[in-house]
Amino acid sequence: MADPVVDPVVIIGSGPAAHTAAIYTARANLNPVLFEGWMAGGIAAGGQLTTTTDVENFPGFPEGIGGPELTDRFRAQSVRFGTVIHTETVTKVDLSQRPFRYATDEREGLAGTLIIATGATAKRDAIPGTLDGELWQKGVSACAVCDGALPMYRNQPLFVIGGGDSAMEEAHFLTKFASKVYLVHRRDELRASKIMQERARGNAKIEFLLSHQVTAVTGDQVMRAARVKDLKTGAERELAAAGLFFAIGHVPNSAFLGGQVATDEQGYILTTPGSTVTSVPGVFAAGDVQDKKFRQAITAAGSGCMAALEAEHFLSSH
Ligand code: FAD
Ligand code: NDP
Repeated sequence: MADPVVDPVVIIGSGPAAHTAAIYTARANLNPVLFEGWMAGGIAAGGQLTTTTDVENFPGFPEGIGGPELTDRFRAQSVRFGTVIHTETVTKVDLSQRPFRYATDEREGLAGTLIIATGATAKRDAIPGTLDGELWQKGVSACAVCDGALPMYRNQPLFVIGGGDSAMEEAHFLTKFASKVYLVHRRDELRASKIMQERARGNAKIEFLLSHQVTAVTGDQVMRAARVKDLKTGAERELAAAGLFFAIGHVPNSAFLGGQVATDEQGYILTTPGSTVTSVPGVFAAGDVQDKKFRQAITAAGSGCMAALEAEHFLSSH
């Protein structure tokens, strides 16, 4: 049987990074094939934006746009220029030689270049009241930068959970809008860098609740309060609050690469600074799977564009 055809560009992922890469490579006549996943990493095709309501910081939409609608538009633009999209999760790759091999549950294929844009999943704790269908996105969020400026949080007490740099940064950021921010961390020692800790500690609107845990979130149509437990004494109390932000880390969706592309210890793909070049020539990475700092739709889209241009350049020089 003949080997399957080699697609010049195979894109894995379906958020802003993947679709920007698809739009650019499709317009460059590279006939991209995109695997958008089937609940890969626990997220629907379309990526993290499918889990949010209003996106107000993506240029071009002065009135804001719903997350799912924005992702539908990304997808429609990819399709318009001829991208072939499969609603399948890539489960395996073999990057030991080019063309690269990849497999889903339904097919195997060959790729001249691979663009990995599989994103990251914000970690959430299963605290009663915070789940989908409860107060998730009705006060409870995992992205302060994205949601913090919403009117529902203005001049209200808010919670941030976490003890790392993200928690410090998000708590500090939220004090622009909130009346006060409770920063809840499960231990006495913070994991955050000294400088970020100092900045947060110097902010009079932040109250640290160390060795504490949020045990429940309550409300009606929106969040109204959280119960916190002092882990040393066991004492519990309820504090009024309009929001709770998880800042307990992200999990980059890179496990399916089986260690064939260099990552940091948390699994974020390492790229050459200023580019999307990975440790494997011909494999490019874009979006949150290689970015633990900015994690925004627009930065993901920007790096998707870079990956497309770098893949195009790679193909023309190989
Ligand atoms: P992602 O959006 O992470 O999407 C990756 C996709 O790839 C997912 O659908 C996943 O299922 C799929 N995938 C994973 N593995 C595989 C595989 N093996 N095979 C096939 N598919 C796979 N940013 C903003 O700029 N503005 C906002 O207002 C905003 N709001 C947000 C609200 C929330 C609740 C969250 C969680 C994030 C928000 N963000 C916002 C951040 C923004 O969503 C992300 O930075 C952006 O979506 C990252 O894009 P990405 O292209 O890297 O991939
Ligand atoms: P981290 O993994 O550094 O920190 C996660 C924090 O959440 C830890 O304090 C951890 O507690 C806590 N945590 C984890 N799981 C749970 C849970 N289930 N319940 C309660 N608490 C939990 O993640 P970050 O997102 O903060 O940072 C990721 C990387 O990005 C780091 O390298 C960081 O330096 C970098 N970063 C840098 C920034 C900057 O420099 N401006 C800004 C943001 C991030 P414990 O400590 O007990 O494990």
